Amino acid sequence: MTQPVYKRVLLKASGEALMGSQGFGIDVTVADRIASDIAEARAMGVEVGVVVGGGNIFRGVAVASKGGDRVTGDHMGMLGTVINALALATSLRKLSIDTVVLSAISMPEICESFSQRQALHHMAQGRVVIFAGGTGNPFFTTDSAAALRAAEIGAEAIFKGTQVDGIYSADPKKDPHATRFDTLTHGEVLEKGLAVMDVAAVALARENSIPIIVFSIHEKGGFAQILTGGGLKTIVSDN
Ligand code: UDP
Repeated sequence: MTQPVYKRVLLKASGEALMGSQGFGIDVTVADRIASDIAEARAMGVEVGVVVGGGNIFRGVAVASKGGDRVTGDHMGMLGTVINALALATSLRKLSIDTVVLSAISMPEICESFSQRQALHHMAQGRVVIFAGGTGNPFFTTDSAAALRAAEIGAEAIFKGTQVDGIYSADPKKDPHATRFDTLTHGEVLEKGLAVMDVAAVALARENSIPIIVFSIHEKGGFAQILTGGGLKTIVSDN
């Protein structure tokens, strides 16, 4: 087996990724596939923290755009991330991967509450840690939660799994002339307004010198390939 380049990473999987080709909710076969990619990383000895999104279930802006209270909408969105976290944990446990869900919003009957101490403890025990509930605050996104948790657990990189295999000059699904960047700096992502992660997430990653690696989450085995330094991707780094 090829040696991984990383020891501890943070994977960000959006709710959209878990939805598969459905219009809403969770496609269990997709959750199982993402879980098998994480299991492969674990088998390579890589410690994996995962932040899951919730866009497949609810987004706070959807409430606000119809005149509702944004904060309540964001609470609904954060609860959606917990549903996704439980689904991914279930898929991982089916593969006998020791997994724990830590939520930024306390719900002790369902999962453990997040603290940096508990996260580091579980990772040291070899568990996959799924971070649910985003940052626990409205007006943020799970991209920001990914940057925050990556900094808290000392992840060497944020692996942002997207629908395409990197950051492109334009939407590759709409523009046939779009080209993929091999490397970018955090500053370039912000200056060019490249829609890969929100501004707060990129700024937090930059401040903590955490590279962001953008790759396709739909490529079976793609995560492991990227972890060994191969595969198609864009690396956002200031080094
Ligand atoms: N959310 C929030 N605070 C956070 C993270 C998420 O309020 O720290 C809410 C917000 O309404 C967001 C929704 O949860 O739209 C789902 O998260 P996100 O849009 O980041 O999910 P993804 O696009 O990754 O599926």
